[in-house]
Amino acid sequence: MTPIKVHVPEEGYHGGLISCQVACPVHTDARGYVRAIAAGKFEEAYLIARGPNPFASICGRICGAPCEAACRRGQVPRVDDDGHFVAQDRPIAIRALKRFACETAGPEAIPSAEVLRRLQSYVPAVAARAEEMAATLRAGISGSVPKVNGERVAIIGAGPAGLSAAHDLALLGFQPVVFETEPVAAGMLAVGVPAYRMPRQVIEREIDVIRALGVEIRCGVSVGKDISFAELRRSFAAIIIAVGAKSSRGLGLPGERGPRVYGGVDLLRAVSLGSSMDIGREVVVVGGGNVAYDVARTVLRQIAYDTARTAARLPGTSNVRLVSLESLEEMPADTLEILEGDEEGIERLNGWGPVEIQRSAEGQVTGVLFRRCLRVYDENRRFSPVFSDTETQVVRCDTVLLAVGQSPMLDFLDDGGVDVEMARPGWPKIDPKTLASTAEGVFVAGDLAHGTRLLIDAVASGKAAARSVYRYVSGREIRPEVTTAHLVLDQYRRERGYESIRRQAVPVREPEERLHHPDVLVEIGYTPDLAMREASRCLDCGVTPVFDGSRCVLCGGCVDVCPTLCLKIVPLRHLIGDEALLAAIGNSLGLDADLDQNSAIVKDEDRCIRCALCAMRCPVDAISMERVTFSTSWRCQ
Ligand SMILES: Cc1cc2nc3c(=O)[nH]c(=O)nc-3n(C[C@H](O)[C@H](O)[C@H](O)COP(=O)(O)OP(=O)(O)OC[C@H]3O[C@@H](n4cnc5c(N)ncnc54)[C@H](O)[C@@H]3O)c2cc1C
Repeated sequence: MTPIKVHVPEEGYHGGLISCQVACPVHTDARGYVRAIAAGKFEEAYLIARGPNPFASICGRICGAPCEAACRRGQVPRVDDDGHFVAQDRPIAIRALKRFACETAGPEAIPSAEVLRRLQSYVPAVAARAEEMAATLRAGISGSVPKVNGERVAIIGAGPAGLSAAHDLALLGFQPVVFETEPVAAGMLAVGVPAYRMPRQVIEREIDVIRALGVEIRCGVSVGKDISFAELRRSFAAIIIAVGAKSSRGLGLPGERGPRVYGGVDLLRAVSLGSSMDIGREVVVVGGGNVAYDVARTVLRQIAYDTARTAARLPGTSNVRLVSLESLEEMPADTLEILEGDEEGIERLNGWGPVEIQRSAEGQVTGVLFRRCLRVYDENRRFSPVFSDTETQVVRCDTVLLAVGQSPMLDFLDDGGVDVEMARPGWPKIDPKTLASTAEGVFVAGDLAHGTRLLIDAVASGKAAARSVYRYVSGREIRPEVTTAHLVLDQYRRERGYESIRRQAVPVREPEERLHHPDVLVEIGYTPDLAMREASRCLDCGVTPVFDGSRCVLCGGCVDVCPTLCLKIVPLRHLIGDEALLAAIGNSLGLDADLDQNSAIVKDEDRCIRCALCAMRCPVDAISMERVTFSTSWRCQ
């Protein structure tokens, strides 16, 4: 028999199996809300989802969903009756389920005061800013953290990082004041992400809940113009800079400066705020990421809408070309964006790099000269494009939109912030643990702290900055404390046939319908029936069979009944492992155990679908199903 390498579970092991929760930067118990939806407990699902994440409703629409990437259902092989591999299964549609929970029981459906009341009564009460807000909203702040005395903290930028920091600071007893240059709050979510993905009313409702905590958001106030950084340092106990990276990067191409060449995020901002921009009818978007798709799909909708109002649009006419350095396989954009972009009529040109923007004698854009990109990354996956000297093409157009990355704008530091040192031009030097800058009392959060990432990373970073401000202002140390709970489940049963249900497609609108108006939502979302069916696919990784070796009679019933063949009974001699294995054998059998006469039940964690058939089959009750949950709270030391 081939030796089997085993890992003996150590403390915290089972919590680590809840891969969706581990992968989420704020450790949302996705498994918890998905299972609540499956049970028809929609309000509870919302409360679980909202607990650690003040942007739950927004995440339900657009989160990059690292939880889904980590979902174990996506790694479980589907096997036939003989145990042969059929196909890889697909992850649970966690983001779409979060949207369903939020739409049903979150601020989209219920007034913000009522949302707060429900959150308050759902979670254990802890110290917070005001009596009526004596719940943490499960912000990860435990009752043992004494609140401060209303010290004022200035936050620059009302994006997800700044507002998440403000949310947690309010719960900790601070008076946060958020300064936002735009007329609306929410940062890139409101002035970047297009309305066909992110409805603006949902943003407003979600931010209303944060405001209801006592967070003051001053929109239309630019730090550096309307108020100086020096003034903020004089008037506030601490400052968090969360200004994101909202300047479109240029490429420095010949012809780039002049009319009708714009940064992609500038176009998105103009459309979001309803300001006009001089855009032609033949547009080239340079870039291959999600932002490039937001830009291309937005401009396509604008053209379609304008054209529909003036004349009949010719079917099949493509006005928008997206040109990327990368091949289709290498493009950084999500597959769904590429597919939906293709469906809507965006013409994709892969493997071309821009050389020059061509203009007429009058200065009008006439086209872009591209050369063939032979390779984008080197052998170490570093960005190092190589181009052909001979293969070129000119793509005719009258407008060029560059979606090749963003960078921060920190000019306001000139007055009062020269001690904020830079790690590289435009990006401040920070302590990665505390998010402190080199200047006293000045912290950094969000994209500015970690580079452009996902919305949920910005939320996590804002919350971390809030804790650092607490330490700085109060002088008290707070540390994370992970609480793990084990619960034996007497009557654990799964939904009938859950193991063979395929991922339920999230209903979307037809491509033609999407182009009727720029704000028409692409995703329609789940109905209650579909949501419950999809949620019932969750493997509930926190539940695990636990074997009592002192009762087991090695009958093999559990092995026989296991539908995914994840259990084996193996003589101890055939196990290989580290010292923990030797210790486990020694503890249960003594050091002189006969390794040939004794056996162990070995479980393949990747295959186990938590069906509980082993526990039901066991004739001597040696197997119990146990639920493990973990949560992180913050305590004063
Ligand atoms: C087009 C686009 C689409 C995206 N789509 C997704 C997505 O689908 N899913 C996802 O997970 N992530 C997405 N992201 C990433 C996500 O939006 C960002 O990671 C997130 O918004 C960063 O948050 P932040 O708070 O650090 O910065 P921002 O959201 O950029 O907010 C910073 C705020 O600071 C303000 N500000 C700047 N300077 C000043 C000043 N001097 N005074 C006052 N205010 C100032 C800005 O106006 C802005 O509102 C997208 C990003 C873009 C650009």
